[in-house]
Amino acid sequence: MRKCILALAAAVSLAGAAQAQTYPQRPINMVVPFAAGGPTDIVARMVAENMSKTLGQQIVVENVAGAGGTTGITRASQAKPDGYTIMMGHMGTHGAAPALYANLKYDPTKDFEPVGMAAGTPILIVTKKNFPAKDLKEMIAYLKANPDKVNQAHAGIGAVSHMTCILFNSQIGVKPTAVPYSGTGPALNDLVSGQVDYMCDQIVNLVSQIKAGSIKAMAIAMPERSPALPDVPTTKEAGMPEYEVTAWNAIFAPKDTPKEIVTALSAALDKALDDAPTKARLLELGAVLPTKAERGGDWLGGFVKKEVARWTPVLKDASK
Ligand code: ASP
Repeated sequence: MRKCILALAAAVSLAGAAQAQTYPQRPINMVVPFAAGGPTDIVARMVAENMSKTLGQQIVVENVAGAGGTTGITRASQAKPDGYTIMMGHMGTHGAAPALYANLKYDPTKDFEPVGMAAGTPILIVTKKNFPAKDLKEMIAYLKANPDKVNQAHAGIGAVSHMTCILFNSQIGVKPTAVPYSGTGPALNDLVSGQVDYMCDQIVNLVSQIKAGSIKAMAIAMPERSPALPDVPTTKEAGMPEYEVTAWNAIFAPKDTPKEIVTALSAALDKALDDAPTKARLLELGAVLPTKAERGGDWLGGFVKKEVARWTPVLKDASK
């Protein structure tokens, strides 16, 4: 019996190795759990383009939005673990979701093979162009004085824009009307047209609209200003040093995807992050690229555990 099991295990791992040697033989589906045009989609398409060249097969982005990104990640986590379905997760889907969904269908720390960090994305507090405040102090005063008038956009419960604004709102003691979207791409359109008042979002979505003056940036939640937006003050400069948060986007494969395939994907991602034009485009949008030490699946797996442990008490407390 034991011999049989060993033989079976050997056969399975040989099959995995053989599959990995020829991988990929057809296009790879990358699930982006938000609407097209938003930050997760932007980061995904930028790295996927270069990874496709390295892998010799197209990575096709599929937008599966809903429930703060948890709909797409649930679906992708249940796909066949053969390397042909991967996903772009983030600090919400793989950090915040366990605190905010009692019946989450996946465990970010157990149900994935981490591929690698794609980009760090500092958070900005942005308002519609004609919001009646010229800086963060005035904005906070206005939010406190007009609790029934203001509304805040976000990309669904547990999304980065939701969790980081829960934190912001709880630190200043306001509870505005929240307006959920399928991603902060469409939310940004409504911010530009003045349908909503403010949001907390990932920098890569915002740089061009801030530069064009079609929305206002109140502060960036980083210790230093971003080279992509040198005129935007940090939260510390703007008088709210306790609000500092940088989100992230990272690639995952479903649990039990063969190790050789995960390694091939990690190497392709690594190469994309070192590719000069890809790197330049990400930096232009304000992304913070992972250092060499922060690359690969092992690092990401450890990081996700720390993120879940870090956010769970913070979010449970802030959403009381
Ligand atoms: N940045 C968004 C969020 O709030 C999602 C997106 O559209 O990428 O999680």
